Amino acid sequence: MTNPILFDNSYAQLPDRFFTRQNPTPVIKPGLIRVNQALAEQLGIDVDWLTSTAGLEVLAGNAIPAGAEPIATVYAGHQFGSWNPQLGDGRAVLLGEVVDGQGARFDIQLKGSGPTAYSRGGDGRAPLGPVLREYIVSEAMFALGVPTTRSLAAVTTGEPVFRETALPGGVLTRVASSHIRIGTFEFFAVKKDIEALRMLADHVINRHYPTAANAANPYLALLESVISRIATLVSQWQQVGFIHGVLNTDNMLLSGETVDYGPCAFMDSFDPTKVYSAIDRGSRYAYQKQPEIAHWNLMVLAQSLLPLIDADQAQAVTLAKAALDQFPLAFHAHHRQGMAAKLGLTTATQTDEQLVRELLELMQNENLDYTLTFRHLSDPTQHKLLPVRLMPWIEDWLARAATETDGKPDYTLMRSVNPLCIPRNHLIEAVIKAAIEDNDFEPFDALTQALQTPYVERPLENPLTQPPRPDQIVQNTFCGT
Ligand code: AMP
Ligand code: MG
Repeated sequence: MTNPILFDNSYAQLPDRFFTRQNPTPVIKPGLIRVNQALAEQLGIDVDWLTSTAGLEVLAGNAIPAGAEPIATVYAGHQFGSWNPQLGDGRAVLLGEVVDGQGARFDIQLKGSGPTAYSRGGDGRAPLGPVLREYIVSEAMFALGVPTTRSLAAVTTGEPVFRETALPGGVLTRVASSHIRIGTFEFFAVKKDIEALRMLADHVINRHYPTAANAANPYLALLESVISRIATLVSQWQQVGFIHGVLNTDNMLLSGETVDYGPCAFMDSFDPTKVYSAIDRGSRYAYQKQPEIAHWNLMVLAQSLLPLIDADQAQAVTLAKAALDQFPLAFHAHHRQGMAAKLGLTTATQTDEQLVRELLELMQNENLDYTLTFRHLSDPTQHKLLPVRLMPWIEDWLARAATETDGKPDYTLMRSVNPLCIPRNHLIEAVIKAAIEDNDFEPFDALTQALQTPYVERPLENPLTQPPRPDQIVQNTFCGT
């Protein structure tokens, strides 16, 4: 097979200052963990080839497939609020892009593929644990219906990666609508490289927001479109109890897909102040702060776009501010509707917000599992599994639902938005432990399999749906950089 992946690269055609040409660094002994068959098929990649020795060599970075133009892209970013003028793909290489049968374009990137011009002293590698974590959580997010980068494959390298200890290494093949970040815009904006900024904006409009091209002010329309998409995205995170953990501007994509599954986590018991990331000491990226942090990041994007929005600086600021003011409104509109759906209410009213607040307060005070509480509410025969302290609230809720067309909550709707199976930390930890200590990938297979259908009914005692026992609770997550 001469062209097993039909590349159609667009980012690599941009000027040289957008990236550095960089091949992945070969590894000693590649081993296949998993190929994502459904995704491979969507991308028109032959699964038999991808799982063959030749495919494995590509997934490990030992061979460059025909048509690939490997590059490491450059970007900057605000990390934990501090400006960093020079970041970039420090441990990733973009092999190229493919267009699927629906005409959608996707990046194919190897993550953990060796050092690049942007490694800043790092080894360019990824430990196996974080590779498995990203595979599990990104594919779980996809199945939950949350926009996300995806995982095409995970491989072992046969080489150790040195962190606090020696760990087995891995490479993840990441697929994304693009990897263009807010930080990519910042990189050119601070250099006052308006020509590059415009090329980048045109590229993003063409690739993600084609209707913006026809707007009176395409770059303002671009900003407005990104704001709207990120508002939806963050509201979806909040609804499933997802904490990203490292919401730096270089980890926020213009496409509105979730990216960078480092120290991320799903909440077990509900706590709005929850932080899992070991490096987030100031709780900057706590669950309840995600909307305001996203707003802050979009403000940084808006600032970068100012020179394109209007030649008159004051006018550009006025326009950008008006666009940014839409973020909280867009977030709340989407969130109100989403939370109402979680309660089986098809139309969201002002008083429903109060109902949601009361439920969340009860969950917090009673230390209730966020996911399971909503799931038990979704089935009237399971209401008895909820603590008695919730019963007055349930009566209020049912009274409110009595005004719905059916006179009760839409339980079918509820079971389609309240997942039963989520990638809980303790489950992920167990998968990683089995893989690293026993070279046993069966738990990985079982968990990823279950997470593909997060909303289907399962026996109550299924361990993959259970919150952690006290001794299983994972307090901290790490990014493995
Ligand atoms: P992250 O926290 O994963 O978003 O990474 C922030 C920056 O550090 C990005 O530019 C990464 O490419 C870079 N980076 C993370 N880990 C490594 C590593 N092991 N070697 C080189 N660069 C890295
Ligand atoms: Mg990153």
